[in-house]
Amino acid sequence: MSVENLKNNPLNIVIVGAGPAGSLAAYLLALRGHKVQVLERKKSIERKVCGEYLCPKGVDLLEELNLLNHLGAGFSPLHGMVLVSPENEVIPSYFPHVHKKEKGLSLNREIFDQRLVDLATMKGADILFERIVTSVVFDQEKRQWAVHTDKESFECDLLIAADGRQSKIGHLLKHSREAITDRVALHCYLPRKTHHGLRLGEMHILENGSYCGLDPIDDDHVNFSIVCNASLLKNHRPEEIINQTIAGSKRLQEMFDFITRKTEIRIVSSLKNSNSFIAGDHLAYLGDAAGFIDPLTGEGIYNALLSASLLIESIDKNHGLDLALAEYKRKKKILSLQKNMLNHFFQFLIRRPLLVGLVVKFLNKSPERANHFIGIIGNIHTPIQGIIKMLRA
Ligand SMILES: Cc1cc2nc3c(=O)[nH]c(=O)nc-3n(C[C@H](O)[C@H](O)[C@H](O)COP(=O)(O)OP(=O)(O)OC[C@H]3O[C@@H](n4cnc5c(N)ncnc54)[C@H](O)[C@@H]3O)c2cc1C
Repeated sequence: MSVENLKNNPLNIVIVGAGPAGSLAAYLLALRGHKVQVLERKKSIERKVCGEYLCPKGVDLLEELNLLNHLGAGFSPLHGMVLVSPENEVIPSYFPHVHKKEKGLSLNREIFDQRLVDLATMKGADILFERIVTSVVFDQEKRQWAVHTDKESFECDLLIAADGRQSKIGHLLKHSREAITDRVALHCYLPRKTHHGLRLGEMHILENGSYCGLDPIDDDHVNFSIVCNASLLKNHRPEEIINQTIAGSKRLQEMFDFITRKTEIRIVSSLKNSNSFIAGDHLAYLGDAAGFIDPLTGEGIYNALLSASLLIESIDKNHGLDLALAEYKRKKKILSLQKNMLNHFFQFLIRRPLLVGLVVKFLNKSPERANHFIGIIGNIHTPIQGIIKMLRA
């Protein structure tokens, strides 16, 4: 099928999952005249367990798509990140300004995800809630997918799996390998006692290889999450783990009161998912369904949006779906490679306090170094660019 054909004969597309990846893809495809149906298992859009930090490159992407004013309206900027070592050394760092004043955003996921759904609906996509996809079958002859839900079935020319890091489609088709991981995330919103004035996120590396991420979502509240070993939960209640973390840090004690059992703490596990298929056979995986390592570097939302925009760019540019999917797969793999290596390196690092100490010493030598370091985390620099800049600073 040529590009002309794709333009003249809109595709029937089913997208599974109305997270950022699925909804942005739905919007971009509906905008191009394709018939898009999104199947979402939840009753409505919810506020997901998430640090709610959109990295600077994610902000840039929304700007490129002309969506920043609408999707980012009312959310506060983040100008950098405070890094805190297990020895409580504090390194404030600011996103390096490469092309302009780079900034991240503190989101509210319910509002952000809902805005994306509304945009897709406005362009004609059909968002069907309370549809749980239970099986999918590819008809080799017709080159079409049959998608079965708990309610009804759908046929489509292109199936997009944007169903998150525990991708049902990935499991059904044996494309996903949910890696065995002993990590869990504890998440809550905490009222803050003090304001440091500047709008910075915080990343505290803790002694036991756990880490704690803080996102000042508004003047009074902080989005607070701890990623730790699941075994800790065998002997401690979640609020005890959070209180012990607060007790171990002067900075956190200044910011927060100890929490009580009344604080709502949500726990998520299975943080890893790998997918080697990515795209082909009239099927594409987007966002976490295409692979997710750990929330440490806070770039899952950006990756979700980027994968959607890469796929649609490939569909726009190529003569036919097979070529488009092949290009998307190639680009996605190249992008993931450096970031995956970096994320694995960080995972290795935070479990070794001695090494963390050395890195902290290195970063402390010059503020520029710390800025370039979070430039890598914020996707402003590629890992290789960032490392070179840190060594030169
Ligand atoms: C503790 C934690 C903190 C995080 N913090 C950050 C952060 O600060 N910044 C950041 O950028 N990222 C963060 N992330 C990652 C981020 O939340 C994800 O990367 C992002 O939500 C991925 O978007 P997505 O659209 O791929 O998937 P999702 O947002 O997970 O959406 C998938 C959708 O598919 C639906 N679905 C699943 N199965 C089915 C089915 N069978 N049928 C129909 N529908 C289905 C789900 O209900 C869901 O709505 C964090 C993650 C965790 C766990």
